[in-house]
Amino acid sequence: MNMNIVLVPGDGIGPDIVREAVRVLDRIAEIYGHDIAFREIDAGGISIDKHGVPLTEDALAVAAASDAVLLGAVGGPKWDHVPGSLRPEKALLGLRSGLGLFCNLRPAVIYPELSSASPLKPSVIADGVDLLVVRELTGGIYFGEKGRNPDGSAFDVMRYSVDEIRRIARKAFEAARLRRHHVTLVDKANVLETSRLWRETVSDLAKNYSDVELDYMYVDNASMQLVRDPKHFDVLLTENMFGDILSDEASMITGSIGMLASASLRNDSFGMYEPIHGSAPDIAGKDIANPIATILSAAMMLRYSFALENEAKAIEDAVSSALRDGVRTKDIALSGDEWVGTAGCGDEIIRRIK
Ligand code: NAD
Repeated sequence: MNMNIVLVPGDGIGPDIVREAVRVLDRIAEIYGHDIAFREIDAGGISIDKHGVPLTEDALAVAAASDAVLLGAVGGPKWDHVPGSLRPEKALLGLRSGLGLFCNLRPAVIYPELSSASPLKPSVIADGVDLLVVRELTGGIYFGEKGRNPDGSAFDVMRYSVDEIRRIARKAFEAARLRRHHVTLVDKANVLETSRLWRETVSDLAKNYSDVELDYMYVDNASMQLVRDPKHFDVLLTENMFGDILSDEASMITGSIGMLASASLRNDSFGMYEPIHGSAPDIAGKDIANPIATILSAAMMLRYSFALENEAKAIEDAVSSALRDGVRTKDIALSGDEWVGTAGCGDEIIRRIK
């Protein structure tokens, strides 16, 4: 297969970790006979320094013309004092909205080997945890009408259309088909009319996915179940604001920020893939950043943008196998344990790709 991938290394550890993901993708291309062309664009602080803005129109156009985007991270103390509209993070918003990405996928995985990093009791996570939060990204209360009234009160409007719900729910059902065939719709249908519309629309759509089990949970209960019984969840589907909160909760239960990938998708196969962590300026350029979140983001890219499930699995299996064999970067090593650098970790994963 021919793949046109745009790389956005960004700032801080971004270039270090994207480099390792590229080496992994090159190895996959070699083993499985694919042709990958990489093109790099500036975004974030580096773009502010070079072009005066966090994301240029040209860079966005290059990203839009690609099959998929792999992003490292943006931002850092150097740009903390630039005005709001010019902040590095604006590059992320510019890419997400400019590319029309409405669906955010955030897996939260607790590997048995790293379970001691989780703040949860060993009995709760004894068999590991592997769930996927599917969050609606461009609608709901964050994007609704907002303002102040003459009496001093304020309002934010939560609005969803059937089409907005259907397109994200379809993504959730399709993701569940690649996993354990179970979707939990998280809402507040006992109080919110939008939630009732979500339930109606999702239960109607579920008729097309009879191989996927659908259940419902109120958001307050879901926030409890994530720490009490995270194994209940396979795919957790929810609207923008609930997803914002629950995806952060889900990532914290893993205890390893350097390991968590994400994808932002739209209706076609295009997607943008990135680790959930930031640019970690404290460790940039020192060969100690953990590249696994970015490498797993590249695996998600193969799965969701190129439908290359075997290749995606080969990367995930290589990561699991390296962890089983005791390969650790500094952030996930126990004190006293030996650890490898960013490139060393990349090497260990690459040589385990089957
Ligand atoms: P951060 O995620 O960059 O770092 C938090 C802590 O986790 C730091 O101690 C860091 O060293 C560690 N860490 C993060 N990723 C790691 C990795 N791969 N390997 C090992 N350790 C890792 O969050 P922060 O410190 O709040 O933010 C730093 C900068 O990143 C800020 O400018 C912020 O705006 C930006 N940021 C960017 C993104 C993004 O690009 N998506 C997301 C969050 C924060």
